[in-house]
Amino acid sequence: MQSRGVIIIGGGVGGLCAAIALRQAGLEVAVYERAESYRALGAGLSLWPNAMRAFELLGVAREVAGAGVEWRETVMHRWDGKVLSRLAVDTLCRDLGQPTVGLLRAELHQVLLRALGPDVVHLGAACTGFHVGNDRVRVTFADGRQVEGDCLVGADGLHSVVRQQLFPEVRARYKGRTSWRGVVSVTSPVLPEGSQFELYGPGGARVGIYHMGRGPEGTWRMYWFLMAPAPAGGRDAEGGHREAVLSHVRGWAEPVESLIRSTPESAILRTDIHDLEPLPHWGDGPVTLLGDAAHAMVTDLAQGACQAIEDALVLAKHLRADSDKVRALRTYESRRRPRTAYVSELSLKAGSLRYLRPPLARWARDLLMQALPRSVALNTLRSVVSHDFLA
Ligand SMILES: Cc1cc2nc3c(=O)[nH]c(=O)nc-3n(C[C@H](O)[C@H](O)[C@H](O)COP(=O)(O)OP(=O)(O)OC[C@H]3O[C@@H](n4cnc5c(N)ncnc54)[C@H](O)[C@@H]3O)c2cc1C
Repeated sequence: MQSRGVIIIGGGVGGLCAAIALRQAGLEVAVYERAESYRALGAGLSLWPNAMRAFELLGVAREVAGAGVEWRETVMHRWDGKVLSRLAVDTLCRDLGQPTVGLLRAELHQVLLRALGPDVVHLGAACTGFHVGNDRVRVTFADGRQVEGDCLVGADGLHSVVRQQLFPEVRARYKGRTSWRGVVSVTSPVLPEGSQFELYGPGGARVGIYHMGRGPEGTWRMYWFLMAPAPAGGRDAEGGHREAVLSHVRGWAEPVESLIRSTPESAILRTDIHDLEPLPHWGDGPVTLLGDAAHAMVTDLAQGACQAIEDALVLAKHLRADSDKVRALRTYESRRRPRTAYVSELSLKAGSLRYLRPPLARWARDLLMQALPRSVALNTLRSVVSHDFLA
């Protein structure tokens, strides 16, 4: 049986960042990822100044910024194009000395994999469980393989196998809506570069359109999402993602319909939106959790991945500082639980007015958005992204 220092289950954003941070801290680390390969899925990410600061400490900020687009402004609209409010993202970034970057998730994975180098990430390794004995942890995989290590970090996402073994009673909460996401290359930029475009419409639907930088042969890559109420576990008919999206946005202001129509069916992903109620514990003995496995949150502040990246730095800080690994894991958890519970709660609040269905409630929300000083939303965001997570 192979013996490892820190075993990380899950090679998503959180697991890969944790591996880089732990290696920087001088620890031996191995990542086990269920997928056979990293595929270019149709999804983008906003990485706010807190994540960019973490990337700076991981030594990859330049590569991350170079792979994406720096965002300057979000403009919020009613479905028919009427402007409701603007968020001056560039003001926030200038004050904090860090950009906000939008990039494709697949490109972020490639930056992180390059930083790790070969032999750290093991693909096609689906963890099925673990066993703790004599202060060591033994992990078992679906193909019968076993590895042993000093610590186990479950960075295996919303439906974490590691969390299910630690806390079998915990269930992810479905938030009553689903997301469709797509990436498409277009020949004209559609929006000013650095601008994000959001629209709120009938039926509780919300659309976002974002620049993701230059594509091949002079094209522009655009990322869009639709959030809309739907029953849990709903599915589109085969080949029917685009029609399902269009059924929510017919007649909305351009470029919504034209972008969706030009997105290949295979470039559209559908994902139900869940979160986790803040957990009272994240671990036991030499086992802990990180990222969505510990604190999946709704997407309304775009902080899920940003918080996983913060987790990675804080975990490495405490494992470096304390030779008692179990104590270091508990210290990491005690630092991260209040912070992520706060951001998760604020994300729920940020979403509470976004998916309103009754026309009167939407009308009142739209009036409020126009009347509210723009500094209110900016200051809420500032309270999240300016936090010194390593203090
Ligand atoms: C629609 C949508 C939009 C979002 N937008 C943003 C945004 O703009 N900004 C932001 O910060 N966050 C955003 N998020 C949240 C973000 O995607 C997550 O918070 C982030 O991906 C969490 O990273 P993670 O590494 O913890 O988990 P994941 O990214 O889910 O990675 C977990 C990894 O573990 C692997 N795995 C799972 N089970 C096993 C197993 N048994 N064995 C081995 N490997 C396993 C999976 O294959 C996966 O690679 C968004 C989420 C959604 C749904």
